[in-house]
Amino acid sequence: MNPLEHELSYPWPDVPALGTTTALRPGLHWVRMRLPFALDHINLWLLDDEVDGVRGWSIIDCGITSDDSKEGWERIFETVFDGRPLLRVIATHFHPDHLGLAHWLTAGGEHRRWSAPLWMSATEWTIGRLLSQSKGELGVEAGERAAAHFRRHGLADPDSLDKVRQRGGGYYSKLVPAVPPSYRRILHGDLIAIGPHGGKRVFEVIVGRGHAPEHVSLYCADDRLLISGDMVLPRISTNVSVFEVEPEGNPLPQYLHSLDRYLQLPENALVLPSHGKPFLGLHRRVAQQHAHHQARLDEVLAACARPASATDIVPVLFRRELDLHQTTFALGESLAHLHALWFDGRVERRAGDDGVYRFAAV
Ligand SMILES: [Zn+2]
Repeated sequence: MNPLEHELSYPWPDVPALGTTTALRPGLHWVRMRLPFALDHINLWLLDDEVDGVRGWSIIDCGITSDDSKEGWERIFETVFDGRPLLRVIATHFHPDHLGLAHWLTAGGEHRRWSAPLWMSATEWTIGRLLSQSKGELGVEAGERAAAHFRRHGLADPDSLDKVRQRGGGYYSKLVPAVPPSYRRILHGDLIAIGPHGGKRVFEVIVGRGHAPEHVSLYCADDRLLISGDMVLPRISTNVSVFEVEPEGNPLPQYLHSLDRYLQLPENALVLPSHGKPFLGLHRRVAQQHAHHQARLDEVLAACARPASATDIVPVLFRRELDLHQTTFALGESLAHLHALWFDGRVERRAGDDGVYRFAAV
């Protein structure tokens, strides 16, 4: 166990098996789906609900498009839904594990059982919709752009660049082959009432940045419940990366600034994260994340005593073997730290004769 985890507490030691749920509070269920990555699972939330006088269910986040996730949901429809319909799907952000199955859930899927609206922030819906359409030629172009981005930041191994190129835009659209063509927009500060008549929980929308452009977390003050999405995770630190679509982005300060919004919530709020287990210790975890990134920034700055590319920084921040999927995230994350220092004027950027950007302490 990560030593920092001892500062948090986990009221539920066991995780729900595929196709089953764990009741956390009346009308609030924890669902877990498998993911075919190093990060091998995602948590989703199922809430007893009532909309327009119809009693049914709301789902928060969906899982990727896979037979495995569909099977998990089918089993939950059979055993938990109790003959009631799906009323709405809320997706915290556009990443495939959160949005992947929204098209199948809301448009009825193969079984044509449901017809439910998708609730999302405008930026997240738009990006998801665009990326899901990035296949064929558009996917090839996206692959070229990604490879050029990584090459510019020092990834030289032709084999890895080839894999990045091949993965291209088709990577997202494989996990999210479609995003519903219409949606209901949610904004920071909106209040969303979820629950049966007479027993509604009111959730406040808290928008966070840095991990995704307009990520939505939901906080219920009466129950002290925070559905944190990927913004606050107990075991791993939230990925904050610079990718090719926004090559000069500076997401790290955005993320750290967004994190402070959670300090206005009570320390004893129960946090329901998308990865890991529900936990107590919100302020502690926010403080850990600040300390983590500060330490990383110090290490990166020290490594820039000599000009360093983002690829040179990867082994400074990640001291373990990485597969290609992890390497692309690690490179993106290294670049996020370099850019935070660069925007702050603490390092400068130079393009070498080889076309690679290197950063050096000023
Ligand atoms: Zn995410």
